[in-house]
Amino acid sequence: MSWLDATLKKSQHLLERGLDRNVRLAVTGLSGAGKTGFITSLINQLLTAPTYHQLTFFKPNADGRLTASKLAQHPELHIPGFDYHGAIDRLTGNNPVWPASTRGVSQAQIKCRFHVSNKWVKKVQADSTVTIDIIDYPGEWLLDLPLLGMSFKEWCQACVKYLSSERREAFCSRIKSEITALDVTQAVDETSTSNQLGVVAKKYTEALLKYREQHNDFSLALPGRFILPGEFEGAPTLEFFPILNEDILSLDWGTVPANSIIKVLEKRFNYYKNEVIRPFFDEYFSKVDRQIVLIDTCSVLESGYDSYIDLKQTIEKLLDGYSYGRSNWLKRLFSPSIDKLLIATSKVDLVPPDQHAALESFMQKMVAQARNNVGYEGVDVETMAISAISTSEPVITEHDGQKLHCVKGKDRGSGNSVIHYPGKVPETILSRSQWNQLEIDFSPFDIPELNADEPLPHIRMDKVLQYLIGDKFL
Ligand code: GDP
Repeated sequence: MSWLDATLKKSQHLLERGLDRNVRLAVTGLSGAGKTGFITSLINQLLTAPTYHQLTFFKPNADGRLTASKLAQHPELHIPGFDYHGAIDRLTGNNPVWPASTRGVSQAQIKCRFHVSNKWVKKVQADSTVTIDIIDYPGEWLLDLPLLGMSFKEWCQACVKYLSSERREAFCSRIKSEITALDVTQAVDETSTSNQLGVVAKKYTEALLKYREQHNDFSLALPGRFILPGEFEGAPTLEFFPILNEDILSLDWGTVPANSIIKVLEKRFNYYKNEVIRPFFDEYFSKVDRQIVLIDTCSVLESGYDSYIDLKQTIEKLLDGYSYGRSNWLKRLFSPSIDKLLIATSKVDLVPPDQHAALESFMQKMVAQARNNVGYEGVDVETMAISAISTSEPVITEHDGQKLHCVKGKDRGSGNSVIHYPGKVPETILSRSQWNQLEIDFSPFDIPELNADEPLPHIRMDKVLQYLIGDKFL
């Protein structure tokens, strides 16, 4: 190799490192927020963009510099792959259905080849590749972070408080009585086939999940893996529940025998903290560069004031992980290294375009506190109203002599084309009484006819891509 070749090669290597062409992008949100749909669309947009040039606000595509994209095998072979082809098959089949929702961690890798734009870099390298690792995980698992700072007794006390609300009482009174009737200082045989603790833990989980289903309340006092166990399905570490007897909670547990119910539950709780929560945050949380959090604002608007408050608090908890810089014990454990966070309200195709700004503004107000906390840590935070896979098109109709912006899509029952006006989306936070008067209905449409090799219809996925990865394509 000549001196010139060797020097060029070396500068190229240094440039690659300096420019950092790899990005680890984590996608999260509570169940049903739209993570699977989002990742499917994100991969689809990148794979089709070199041919269709459809991503107007994604600069490398708009400038015609994105030359090729491909899905690659992600290098962490112990993590399940995101089933992109399965998702596309379901969406584009004869009877299209939505892909199966996120139930655990999965990962995808996509490589994008592009013409370099920076005039200095171009001198040594005309083309380069950006590698994007996409990590999908349930937001419910992020909510476990505060448990790391709690003892079993403190967690029980927090549960007593949580369960005391009137709304929860109706769903939990039976299991509460069952738990308080247990003599928790008595010995329990962990090997017994009756699996007494497992049975109670299951009933406790079921009662709270039923409550969540009815009330759209995501702020459950349930450890995240009780909701979505992932690889821990059936593991004894998930078989614990809170002690709810206030008199027992005020006792000193130092002298309670090791084989008592209290101590066994405490052991399982501690195991859950150390062997489930901690490794998850170690593995994913500390190694992510950029994070998107999806929020289904439409469904909370339909659910009412209490659900709104629950969701607001849950989002704050969910994003606490990124604002714990001020809490020293967590900072010592994990130091999240994200530099950008996007909070996006999903499924905006159910809302007429002239109301997207109102929806985004409403969501911004809902997440204002959480956003502030994260921004305080020096992370760049952005919000957007998006749709990963649009099921509608905008139309203008006339109502009482006035123009009315609506959405048109395929009716879920008949499959006929229907026009829908969802009502007026509030721009700002509402009081309980204003909420009671809110008339809003974001009826979903059927999936339109889609083609497997073409770009999926979307709203603002190009802006999402530009914000999250655009700077890697210089
Ligand atoms: P996950 O639990 O966060 O993975 O959520 P999914 O991606 O599975 O989405 C849950 C449901 O929301 C889907 O089954 C669809 O019914 C709906 N959905 C997801 N993305 C969109 C979207 O962009 N537009 C519309 N209209 N519905 C969506």
